[in-house]
Amino acid sequence: MSDAPFDSAAARAQVLDRVAQAARASGRDPADVTLVAVSKQQPWDPVAQVLAAGQTIFGENRVQEAQTRWADRREGLELRLIGPLQTNKAREAVALFDVIETLDRERLAKALAEEMARQGRAVRLYVQVNTGEEPQKAGVSPAEADAFIARCREAHGLEIEGLMCIPPAEEPAGPHFALLGKIAARNGLSKLSMGMSGDYETAVRFGATSVRVGSALFGARAA
Ligand SMILES: *Cc1c(COP(=O)(O)O)cnc(C)c1O
Repeated sequence: MSDAPFDSAAARAQVLDRVAQAARASGRDPADVTLVAVSKQQPWDPVAQVLAAGQTIFGENRVQEAQTRWADRREGLELRLIGPLQTNKAREAVALFDVIETLDRERLAKALAEEMARQGRAVRLYVQVNTGEEPQKAGVSPAEADAFIARCREAHGLEIEGLMCIPPAEEPAGPHFALLGKIAARNGLSKLSMGMSGDYETAVRFGATSVRVGSALFGARAA
């Protein structure tokens, strides 16, 4: 690998351009697709570069890491939790994040509802669907999704904004994105968080309203 610094501002411009092209090619308005910059495990410099370039929406997969990085420079930003959330971290997550994309079980729904009421804070919520039904992956199964969304709404009074998925790494992502869109449509949801560095253009063609891009913006994460 070369030691030349990765130009994150240029990478961001290129990703935005590709998102816009994919949107237009499928008859969509590029403004309807949000770029979530996944800053987890990245050094500060490249993150600072995209901030300076105007990026305001960031995704993190750990509550603690996100607090350390963002708590003191929170203003004007939108922070999204895209990693699994333990129930005992619900309080901190509700206090820090604007969006939690990984709601996937009833205990967590209950904990989030209680914390939002306690803190008087409405966090936007996405239900994570394990479209590939991978045992090691979080998310409700496609078959359970309708009932889970209904429980969130009816039993816990939660407003669900959309759905999120992470397709199996070794399969074409398109069918997974299509499935997520189908589950969203039949549950009256219009927001789809799907697509990462390797497949965000495909996701946009399948209707993604937000794409979560890390390494294509910042370079490979430190191992
Ligand atoms: C890390 C991560 C991403 C970003 O992955 P890249 O391939 O680096 O773009 C997106 N979504 C989730 C849930 C992640 O954990």
